[in-house]
Amino acid sequence: MKPLIVANWKCNPTTLKEAEKLFNSLKKGLKNVKKIEVVICPPFVYLPSFKFQASGFKLGAQDCFWEDKGPYTGEVSPQMLKSLGGSYVIVGHSERRQIFKETDEIVNEKIKEILKAKLRPIFCIGESEEEKRAGKTFQVLEREIEKGLDKVPKKEIERVIIAYEPIWAIGTEKACEENEVMTIALFIKKLISHLYNKKIARTIKILYGGSVDSKNASDYLGESKMQGLLIGGASLNSKEFIKIIRTLNSI
Ligand code: PEP
Repeated sequence: MKPLIVANWKCNPTTLKEAEKLFNSLKKGLKNVKKIEVVICPPFVYLPSFKFQASGFKLGAQDCFWEDKGPYTGEVSPQMLKSLGGSYVIVGHSERRQIFKETDEIVNEKIKEILKAKLRPIFCIGESEEEKRAGKTFQVLEREIEKGLDKVPKKEIERVIIAYEPIWAIGTEKACEENEVMTIALFIKKLISHLYNKKIARTIKILYGGSVDSKNASDYLGESKMQGLLIGGASLNSKEFIKIIRTLNSI
């Protein structure tokens, strides 16, 4: 199983020209990478500008709507993303939950619509610094998983990827300790086993995200046994992102 490395560009860069420059340097720098599945998630407006398949990258989106079409001004549906060749959609990112007030119920609707379009949701969960300090990490993760996966049937759950992204580690340069990430992943698997079954718990992909860089990336795939990484800040720096992928590709 190839490790999955997801680049979340968020609301960057500011112009198409800069986005093309970034994309082209990644394409050039990652040409011979065979052992890693690289997913690039640019802002919606840049998606049609890049030749994802020809570049060896998978196309991902940072969010989507929970209906396939209709009178929903400003929204983009999973079906639309699929028609552009999309494979993955990040959903429930903490920035969407905190800034745009997305609830667990909204995240659940989106996950179900992504699955209906036969795409793969990258379902983000994670506790805030305050919740961590109050000892509520497991409680928060349990609630997010149970509500986010409500009525997601067994036959579809295998396409769901869970991304553990502690909010206090996102963009802070305070990455979560490798052994802590491993403990959380075990907790997630136990919960999935309880909600589905042991086989699904064994095979479900879990990613880590939060201040990943070229110095710590390999530890999460090695020591923490993660199946991949979700990378924000470092994915906007082509040199650093290429270094991360090349390091992982050489392991
Ligand atoms: C993210 O926003 O998903 C993320 C992991 O960001 P960063 O890598 O910058 O911490």
